[in-house]
Amino acid sequence: MSTIRQLDETYIAKTYGRFPVTLVSGKGSVAKDEAGNEYIDMGAGIGVNVFGYSDDTWKEAVIAQLDTIQHTSNLYYTGPCAKLAEALCTRTGLKKVFYCNSGAEANECAIKAARRYGQTHKGEDWYTIITLKDSFHGRTLSTLAATGQDAFHQLFTPLTPGFVHAEANNIESVKELLKTHHVCAVMIECVQGEGGVNALSKDFVQELVSLAQEKDFLIIDDEVQTGNGRTGSLYAYMQYDFLPDIVTTAKGLGGGLPIGVTMLGEKVQDIFKPGDNGSTFGGNPAVCAGALSNLTRLDDAMMAEVNAKAAWIRRELSGAKGVASVSGLGLMIGIEPVNAKASDIAAKCLMKGVLVLTAKGNKVRLLPALNIPMADLEKAIAVLKEVMAEE
Ligand SMILES: *Cc1c(COP(=O)(O)O)cnc(C)c1O
Repeated sequence: MSTIRQLDETYIAKTYGRFPVTLVSGKGSVAKDEAGNEYIDMGAGIGVNVFGYSDDTWKEAVIAQLDTIQHTSNLYYTGPCAKLAEALCTRTGLKKVFYCNSGAEANECAIKAARRYGQTHKGEDWYTIITLKDSFHGRTLSTLAATGQDAFHQLFTPLTPGFVHAEANNIESVKELLKTHHVCAVMIECVQGEGGVNALSKDFVQELVSLAQEKDFLIIDDEVQTGNGRTGSLYAYMQYDFLPDIVTTAKGLGGGLPIGVTMLGEKVQDIFKPGDNGSTFGGNPAVCAGALSNLTRLDDAMMAEVNAKAAWIRRELSGAKGVASVSGLGLMIGIEPVNAKASDIAAKCLMKGVLVLTAKGNKVRLLPALNIPMADLEKAIAVLKEVMAEE
């Protein structure tokens, strides 16, 4: 075993099951291990490296900022976070942003905003948030409570109260919960990522939007994974023809540096006052400079590229030997094997130089860099098809 693996096994808490490989460098969509073996990365750091490893444009933006101010506290104004906020609001139609460092934290802020909304507009006990079964919203105690998968909850109870779970794509199950709880918000992922790469139906989302108007609750849209071009539009909600009251994002926005954002719509734009929330690193200038550079490149041409690649992958995999079904949206793709275990497929792909992810429900999950070169994509899909056909 390599020294790095030994150190890791000895000193790092066992919260992760790692693949037996140590990555030391990367460029574009290709990563290299200690022995110099190359891997085409179809997971992109779980949808984070939107422009791949060590992308030049992103790096230049970050480095230029490091040369001026790398960090100051939120007691002072700085340029990059203000400009990024303007770009995010202009492109989404949401009104204000709060910055933090991860998806879970962005969702925590969304939960606080929704509770504050319910309690100021309707009353003290209007704090319940409906989330969906098989959702994933993070690892903090409140976002775990929001996460509609019992497996994540075991032996961490009591979780934050005030969360109940409805069935995805079943509006009646939402209506039932609205009868028995004082609900301030419903929280969704347009495509459930960790929960199996399943897209919500347009009908369900539209019915939810009507219900929200009728009953005056907020819609929180968790775009931590679906956001930032991943699904073929800047944010996935744009393909569902509605404007959420709160959008959270993280993963891909920073292109590899930690950032979380809670975007607040009209109803909640003024919900927070000084002291109501905060983050030491939130809005960090170097991270925001990189994120702004990324956001600028996530334009219509880039989205057309994402959709073309997504359509190509779907054509390649649909009906291929060993493939039972293909799900997801854009370059967020779930592949259900006929017989094999998704984890075995991932292990075999690794041996053949391709990194893939898995998701709940025995799915292989692909979240490649949005700018992955077609040549790399073709090689990776050929390997995946070969491995899936073996079973
Ligand atoms: C990854 C993820 C989170 C949690 O993000 P962290 O940055 O790991 O805290 C929350 N929601 C969704 C949909 C995610 O995919």
